Parts: sequence; C-alpha cells; structure tokens
Amino acid sequence: MKVSVIGSGYVGLVTATCFADIGHEVACVDIDEKKVELINAGVPPIYEEGLGELLQKYAGKKILATTDYDYAVRNSEISFICVGTPSDDAGNINLEIVKAAARSIGQALAKKAGYHVVVVKSTVVPETTEKLVLPILEEASGKKAGPDFGVAMNPEFLREGKAIEDFMNPDKIVVGAIDEKAGKIVSELYRPLDCEITLTNPRTAEMIKYANNSFLATKISFANEIGNICKQLDIDTYEVMQAIGKDFRISPAFLNSGAGFGGSCFPKDVKALIGKAKEIGYGPTLLEAVISVNETQPLMMTDLLRKKIGDLKDKKITVLGLAFKNDTDDIRESRAIPVIAELLRLGAEVSAYDPLAAENMKKVFPAIGYRKSAKAALEGAEACLVMTEWDEFKELDSEFEGMKEKLVIDGRRIIKARNIDYEGLCW
Ligand code: NAD
Repeated sequence: MKVSVIGSGYVGLVTATCFADIGHEVACVDIDEKKVELINAGVPPIYEEGLGELLQKYAGKKILATTDYDYAVRNSEISFICVGTPSDDAGNINLEIVKAAARSIGQALAKKAGYHVVVVKSTVVPETTEKLVLPILEEASGKKAGPDFGVAMNPEFLREGKAIEDFMNPDKIVVGAIDEKAGKIVSELYRPLDCEITLTNPRTAEMIKYANNSFLATKISFANEIGNICKQLDIDTYEVMQAIGKDFRISPAFLNSGAGFGGSCFPKDVKALIGKAKEIGYGPTLLEAVISVNETQPLMMTDLLRKKIGDLKDKKITVLGLAFKNDTDDIRESRAIPVIAELLRLGAEVSAYDPLAAENMKKVFPAIGYRKSAKAALEGAEACLVMTEWDEFKELDSEFEGMKEKLVIDGRRIIKARNIDYEGLCW
C-alpha cells in the first residue's frame, strides 16, 4: 500500500522504515528541511538501533521524504499523524502540532480526488481524534468524514532503543476507527506482522495508550516507594521485587526501583491523563501520586550525596549517564536533568559522560564538563552519581581509581565495581 507518515521523529521514522520493510511505499513529511535531507540521504536524524541499516536500504526507493503535504497525500492512500504532543506549562497536553498537521492534511485532501484514511498515531487524550482532528480535517478539506475520507486512531507502544524490534514484533495492535471501512484499511497495512488487532472506536484506542503507560509508570513509582521504605529498614528491595514478580498477577517487569522514569512518554502521558481527568471533574489521586514520587526520586540522589559528603560547593561531582534510559540519545525528561540542576544550584562542579546523549544534553546544560569516557569524567571527582543503566557501566572498575574520593551513588543498580564506597539509592 502507499502510506504517508507525517512527522519524522522517533515514532514517525520508525513507522516509515518498518512499513517500507513490510512492503509498503512511504512518503515521510516533516517541516524540518534538514531532517528531510538527511532521510533522503539514508541518514537517520535520531539514534535508534537498526534504523540506519533500514533507512540505507529504502531511502530513495521505498521511502521518500518531503516537506510537501500535497505531494505526500496525493501519492498515498493513508496518512499517519506522528507529530509530537508535548506538555504545556501546566502539564496538560499541547495539541497545537497535531492541529497544524491535521489542517495541512485537510488542505491537501481538498485537492485530492478519491477516498483517503487519516490515522492519528501521536499519543492524544481521549476524544481528540473525534472532537478535534476530525472537525479540522472536514473544515480544511470541505469533505465529509465517513463517505469522503476515513479517520482512525492507532496508538504506538514501541520502546525507544528497541523501537524497530517492537514495531516488527508487537504484542498488540490497536485500531480505533470511526467506521468499518477505515478500520479495515488500517488493519490491512499491518497484516504482514501477523498480530491480532484490537478493533475499537478512536476514544477507546486513545485511552488504551494512556492506561497502558500510566499502569507502567505506576509500577515504577510503586517500586520506588517500596524501595525508599526498604532502604530505611536495611532490606534489599530488589530481593523483594524479584519475589513479588513471581506472582503471575504482578509480573517481574518494571519493578526496578531507582532514580525514577523519564523519556518523552511516561511523565507527559500521565500528566496529560491527569489534566483530562480534571477537565471532566475527576480528581485522579493515584496518578498524581505516581508523578509526585517520580519528581522527588532523583532529588533523593543529591540528598543522599549531601548526607555523605556535606556541602557540595566547589566539589567535583561526576554524573554517569545522561540519556533517560540506555540505548538511546533521548534526554527528554531524563532524571539526570533535575539532578544536574540541583548539583549546580548547590555550587558543585559537574563533569559528565554518556555514550550517546552528551550532544543533546549540551543544549540544556552548556556549561558543565562533558567527557569522552567514564574514566575521563571520573578523574579527580569527589563523588559519582549514576543516572542511566548503560551496559558499559556494568564493566566499570579500574576507571574509579582516578577519583579523589571513591563514593559512588548508584541510581540504577548497575555498578559492579568492588573497590569503591558504594551506595544504592533504594538498596
Ligand atoms: P518527535 O518530537 O521525535 O518527532 C516529531 C516530528 O514531527 C519532528 O521531526 C518534527 O520536526 C515534526 N513536525 C512538527 N510539526 C510538524 C508538522 N506540522 N508537520 C510535519 N511534521 C512536523 O516526537 P516522537 O517522539 O516521535 O513522538 C511523536 C508522538 O508519538 C507523540 O505523541 C508521542 O507521545 C508518541 N509516542 C512516542 C513514543 C516514543 O518513544 N518516542 C512512543 C509511543 C508514542
């Protein structure tokens, strides 16, 4: 089939390359001309395992990037909206980019003859597809949703760092369509993936995505709260979680306590659901507690550090790990951000190392010392805070020898070195 994908970020570009790999022809649309050029040259503008190889294989063949909505809509049967849905200052969802994309698709639809399906893949709060996107499409195209064009919502569940693998091996595909015709066309696209499709209406599809992420975020904040209690009682919370994870009703995933969750999805999505619940007059106590635990968790790293070494003024502190998790260069909502901000506020001198995310973090903290290796970052440090579970940190050992004081506070339970003064955040 011929597909257009609007927005070439983590979700859009992975969707585009994976659709190409399962046999479809894809037009990628982005407003960022530099991204468009890179994609056409076969170079991914973001890091994602396996993405470079797929893009190299299909760029200029099955994948063509453009800034031209008219071209992309005219040359496809179905358009996926994959643009960002950031939080506004109050934490509520900001739908301006989705609205802009819907308007541009609608304007292109006005010039196109024949049926077309518009699918929202961006994470949007329940009712957005039907009450916001659909009316914009109708108004901009002058056409009627249903007979003239289809509308659907197809949430994305991929994990950054494993996005290609997740897209190709989904445990669920959810398609919420306004009618059977649109639902069938979207489902047909995914047929090569051989996964059962949950067919529903758009607002249920939207809620499935939020409930999914909110549940996972709840598990993490739960594990962190238990971990904080365990730490005070000299109990190894990982032993506790390993045991409770054996209960089939709980499962062992997402029970690792530590410095909290980050990324472009969990914090933003839980906050957006809180905002939507409040909008309809419901006070979401549990979801608010999930965010509250997550906001205090990284600051417990610096509290623990101060308990150990006192005043941080002019002390040289190393931060290992800047990405919000391993195997990505994404720093959005990384728990390293509040930690570095607090260290700077307290007058510490910060040096940092991350295998992939330093360039992105330089935009947030241009003035801290970025080093090319963990060893270089640790040289002369009076303490080290570990913020990301990079595999290479498991191997660190002699690298700590260059520290002035070998205090290591681990926020991810990743450090194995022996000859250090080790302190786990919740264990
Ligand atoms: P992103 O910020 O990485 O990418 C968005 C892209 O859209 C950018 O390339 C931007 O230039 C482009 N863009 C902005 N305005 C545009 C416009 N008017 N027309 C065309 N392109 C435009 O975002 P992302 O991480 O890919 O997330 C996209 C959506 O998917 C969000 O709603 C997010 O919540 C959801 N999601 C993300 C993930 C994830 O792991 N990143 C997982 C599941 C769902």
